[in-house]
Amino acid sequence: MGSDGNQIHAMFFPYMAPGHMMPMVDMARMFAAFGAKVTIIITTMNALRIKNVIDRDVKLGRDITLEIISLPSTEVGLPEGCENVVSAPTPEMSIKLFHAIELLQPKIKKLFSDLHPDCIVSDSLCPWTLDIANEVGIARIAFNGSGFFNLCLLENITLYEPHKSIESETETFVVPGLPHEVKLTRSQLPDIVKAKNKFSELFDKLRESQRKSFGVLMNSFYELEPGYADHCRNVLGIKAWHIGPVSLINRDTVDKVDRGEKTSISKHDCINWLDCKKPRSVLYICFGSLTRFNKKQTTEIAYALEASGHPFIWVVGKVLKTSNDEFEDEEQELWLPQGFEDKIKENGQGLLIRGWAPQVLILDHEAIGGFLTHCGWNSILEGVVAGVPFITWPIFAEQFYNEKLVTQVLNLGVSIGNEVWKAWATEDSLVIKSGDDILMTINAVMGDTEEAIDMNKRAKKLGELAKKAVEEGHSSYNDLKRLIEDIKMHRISKSNAVIENSGNA
Ligand code: UDP
Repeated sequence: MGSDGNQIHAMFFPYMAPGHMMPMVDMARMFAAFGAKVTIIITTMNALRIKNVIDRDVKLGRDITLEIISLPSTEVGLPEGCENVVSAPTPEMSIKLFHAIELLQPKIKKLFSDLHPDCIVSDSLCPWTLDIANEVGIARIAFNGSGFFNLCLLENITLYEPHKSIESETETFVVPGLPHEVKLTRSQLPDIVKAKNKFSELFDKLRESQRKSFGVLMNSFYELEPGYADHCRNVLGIKAWHIGPVSLINRDTVDKVDRGEKTSISKHDCINWLDCKKPRSVLYICFGSLTRFNKKQTTEIAYALEASGHPFIWVVGKVLKTSNDEFEDEEQELWLPQGFEDKIKENGQGLLIRGWAPQVLILDHEAIGGFLTHCGWNSILEGVVAGVPFITWPIFAEQFYNEKLVTQVLNLGVSIGNEVWKAWATEDSLVIKSGDDILMTINAVMGDTEEAIDMNKRAKKLGELAKKAVEEGHSSYNDLKRLIEDIKMHRISKSNAVIENSGNA
């Protein structure tokens, strides 16, 4: 059934990885807060991850429902209940998860037909939702998990192939046709961009289905990347709406804490620790939901943090096992150099979070003064909202592109200097940066040089613009309003077409 009168019915189908699911759920909640009827299609285990937040929205009177379906994990060889990339922590397992999600097609098609929403917002990673939406006759909006800068960079690298006319992996090239001079090396490009491989066909399909959709929904705001938002629409001809930073829908502490996985620290322990630190003095270190380092790299990071003397919160992930390591139990995967934890606890310099951190809650605290990040798009946006400068340490996916936005366009951070893109969580992905290199970069961002002070000023200013963007009358708010109007217009033109066709019959 379609929605009545003036209210639109938007259906959301998030991809099952934190960096995709969390912003899509935030977006769905923004639609509901704007008065739309919202249905989120979600699998059983993932529903548990978002239930509390959605229940609270319902209590606030928002029209938002979960449509819970089961995922055939075991059919593709995954353990039962493994329904999210965080519990499928290797590239091989995440490919199986991708296939399990593809097996949902008949169920999703039935939901589209039964509920017949006005639009379906689905992740770019599920291009097949476009085919189903077309069959059922509803508009598909593609959620692009990154920003305009990344989208433009990727389009122009694919179009002009500047990396093919240079001699070596380490020589820099400029990406042609962009508003700024953006420099990269071939070694920083994802494998799939450098040469055709088994994923190339899928990659082409993703780009094509994005273009053929009703439009593309971006978690970004105009003031962050105006030249690239314009370039995307006017030069690349992609219809897009930007409604971010979407994490800002989480205004209450409880929503910030409940966002994503179950946190490994209580909000009180976190806030109490931060409350004792000076404003803008603490460095926050987190490498997103998937990155793993080996023992050697973890040791170098620990050394640099301690030697810097700056207070820090470090979200320590599980250590990546190499062929030299024997781990007898899970505990050992949460490895740190001997004595490190006791020392930094005793002197109060650091807080370690082993597992999942309430990232948005931490970044929003006034004590945070810098963010050492792997450059996942959500982390970049959340750091921008917090108004802090970055230390950039990209590893895989489109993280090197995001790094260039921060360091070459916005001038908001200093690179740790990782030069080589590698698939995540494989032994091949080991990136070794020396403790002294890390230390030097930390000091460049957290110190009081003129450059650091200027970077802080720019970050603060952009943070204010980010918060403003989602307020009534401002850029992201206006784009969400425009999108909802576009969906209404689409509904009207569809029903006019039906009337015309029945008249002609
Ligand atoms: N995140 C979090 N706590 C953690 C790790 C990650 O809340 O301990 C959140 C973070 O706030 C962000 C998302 O998970 O919203 C990670 O997305 P991002 O695009 O930064 O990186 P990815 O995990 O996709 O590589």
